[in-house]
Amino acid sequence: MIIIKYNLLIDLDDTLIHCNKYFKETIDSFTDYIINWFGLSLVEKSKIKEKQYEFDMIEIKKCGLTHHGFIQSLINTYKFFSSESGRKHYQLEEKVIYDLGMSLFKNKHYELYQNILPTLIKLSKFHNLYIYTAGNTDVQLNKIESNNLTEIFPQKNIIIVLQKNVEILSKILIEREISKNNTWIIGNSLKSDILPALEVGINAIHIPAEVEWEYNKVTMETTPSNLYFASNFAEIHNILNNSNVKKLERQSLI
Ligand SMILES: [Mg+2]
Repeated sequence: MIIIKYNLLIDLDDTLIHCNKYFKETIDSFTDYIINWFGLSLVEKSKIKEKQYEFDMIEIKKCGLTHHGFIQSLINTYKFFSSESGRKHYQLEEKVIYDLGMSLFKNKHYELYQNILPTLIKLSKFHNLYIYTAGNTDVQLNKIESNNLTEIFPQKNIIIVLQKNVEILSKILIEREISKNNTWIIGNSLKSDILPALEVGINAIHIPAEVEWEYNKVTMETTPSNLYFASNFAEIHNILNNSNVKKLERQSLI
C-alpha cells in the first residue's frame, strides 16, 4: 500500500503534555490566599474563580496567551476583592501572587502525557511533524526542550504563536508552503485547534484533554466529514491509516 505523507500540526499543551492541571492547582492556591486574606467563606471560591476567569479573558483578548496576561488576571482579581471589601491592598501580598503565577512559567517541568513518545516516533517515520502551539516563545520552548521533544520535532518545525485562530493558521500554511490537501491538525481545543482547521479546510483530530479549560469549550452544531475523534494520542496512527486507505481508494491507487 502507498502511504501518503501527511503534514501533522500537533498542539502541545494538553495534547502532548499536561498543562491545565497545573493552572488549576495554581488557581486553587490563589483562591486559598484570597479566602484567607479577605476572611471569605469557602462558598466564595467559585466567585473568586469566576472573577479570575473574567480578567483572564480580558488579558487574552488584549495580548493573546501570554504568561504576563495570566499573572495580571490574578493580580486584578486580588485588587478587585481588595476594593470590594475595602481592605488595604498590600504590595507584599501582590508579590506573593506574582510569584505564585510566575512559578507556572519559570523552569517549571510540564509532564508528558502517558505513552506519547512511542506514537510520536512511529508517526515521525511516515509524516512531517510540526508542533503548533500558543504562548510565550521561551515558556513553550522550555516545555518542548525539557521533554526532549526536539529529538522528534526539528527546530524549523516548531511553530509558536501568541494565539491560534483562522487568520494565523492560514498565514502559516501560506508562508511555509504547507499544502492543505495532506495536512492535519491534532489538538484538544475545539476553539483554537479544531474550528480554525475546519474553517481553512484541513483535516482535524480532536483529542479531549484530561482536564479541560473553560476557554477551550465550544459547542459544535454539526460534525464535518474531515473531523475525527480520538480518545487518546495513541489512536492517531490508526485514524491516519484508515483515512489513507479511503483516500487511496477514491484515487483508485490500491
Ligand atoms: Mg492545547
